[in-house]
Order: sequence, then C-alpha cells, then structure tokens
Amino acid sequence: MAARLIVPGLYGLRLGMVNVFLLETDEGLALIDTGYATSAGAILKAVRQIGRQPQEVRHILVTHCHPDHAGSLAALKQQTGATAYMHPEDAAMVRAGKTLRPLSAGPGIFNALVFQILIHTAAQSIEAAEIEHLLADGDELPIAGGMRAIHVPGHCAGQLAFLWSRHGGVLFAADACANVFGLGLSPAYEDLSEGRRSLAKLSALEFGVACFGHGRPVLKNAAQKFRRKWAPAARSDSAAASIGADRPAKPGARRPG
Ligand SMILES: [Zn+2]
Ligand SMILES: [Zn+2]
Repeated sequence: MAARLIVPGLYGLRLGMVNVFLLETDEGLALIDTGYATSAGAILKAVRQIGRQPQEVRHILVTHCHPDHAGSLAALKQQTGATAYMHPEDAAMVRAGKTLRPLSAGPGIFNALVFQILIHTAAQSIEAAEIEHLLADGDELPIAGGMRAIHVPGHCAGQLAFLWSRHGGVLFAADACANVFGLGLSPAYEDLSEGRRSLAKLSALEFGVACFGHGRPVLKNAAQKFRRKWAPAARSDSAAASIGADRPAKPGARRPG
C-alpha cells in the first residue's frame, strides 16, 4: 500500500486496519505510530517510495501501547536508529513488551461485534523497546515546525494525541475516536467516561485536518466536526443514528428534541 499525501509534508499509510503517518521535517522524517508487529517492511518501503531512506527517520512518536500502534516499534528503531516518544504510562507497557490493559466495548451493537473480533485477535505482547523521550500533556516538540503532545486517556491510559501547528492545525487523534463509518467513538475503551472527557478536550483545540488510527482523515473543518459531537455543550447523542455508537455517558445527559 503506497503512502498517500494528506497535506504537504504529511503522508498517511494504511496497513490493514490501522494507519501510520510520515512527516517530512527539516531534519529528516518523523513517524507517528508503527502499525502491527509485521508492518516494519511496508513502512520502510513507503519511506523509500517518497524518496527517502530509512536512516532519515529520526523520530518515532507512538500514540499508545496497543499492538496495532506500537507493534513494529522495536524493529523500526533497529532499522532506522530513530528515538521513540511516548507518555510514561504506556512507555512502561512497551518497555515490558505489554500491549493491553482490560478493555470494554464502546456503546452499540456494532462496537460490541468489532470488540469481540479485536479481543480475540489482538496480540497480547510485542517486542519490548526502549522509549527515550517521555512526554507529558502540553509538551511542545520542535519537530516539523511544532508538535504538541496532548494526553487523551480513556481508550488507553497513556494515549497521546498530537497537534501539528502547520496547515491551520493537523490533529493526530490516535484512537481517541475513529472515522471508519463517519466520525465516532472507538470500538473499545478502558474507561469510556474518561474517553469522552478526552474528546471534549480535543474539541476545544483549533485544527482543520484530523487524522485517526482507524479510518480516513477529515480534511476540512475538523475541529467544528469534533465540537458538534463532543464539545461539552453539544448534544452527545447526535450521531447515534448511524451505527448506534454514540450515546450520552449518563442517561440524564440526554436533552429533549
Ligand atoms: Zn488502540
Ligand atoms: Zn488502534
């Protein structure tokens, strides 16, 4: 699968069900996420397809410890010499080769079905890797003109989203939400209430483009689309019709009309 240009300097690469992203920076390449344990070859092939060499990958930003995001981190570090960036809670998991804390299905029948498939197929372990850079909420990285780490727990306790300052703001939302059948919740959360708070936090940011671990990028007015669904004042059940995936956290939060 070839890398696809999303905005100048940013490529998306779909590896089965999951996306990884390649950023061209002034000092080489940055990778956001690493796919499954078997994805390293396809990622390095995509690096060459955009005219770069594996050794030019300098930074690997890992959004969270799940096996579809951190799976090839160890292999890619070995083959590129890049250093890795994660939140401390998930860095501890990856350093120990662990991938999953207990998860529950998101709301709705569709998520229940996807969840059943996921938990029966997800790798429980990955090759352990060292994480050189631990990131806290709000940390600004001098990568590609400016990249802010945003702690978005709920789906995964140490999950980070990243906000790239260029092109009117490009959000890498990781699995805080997904855009597989429209913008919606992810199929699984460690703590759904926490996940909704993280989505409200992302909705307060300014970004035109949003990229996801799963599904297509939103290329226009992405922050408005997030706010319509997940800002605290928004009707949180507005998208329930499509797949029954998005209901209010508490029944009392539902508004009439
Ligand atoms: Zn995940
Ligand atoms: Zn994922």
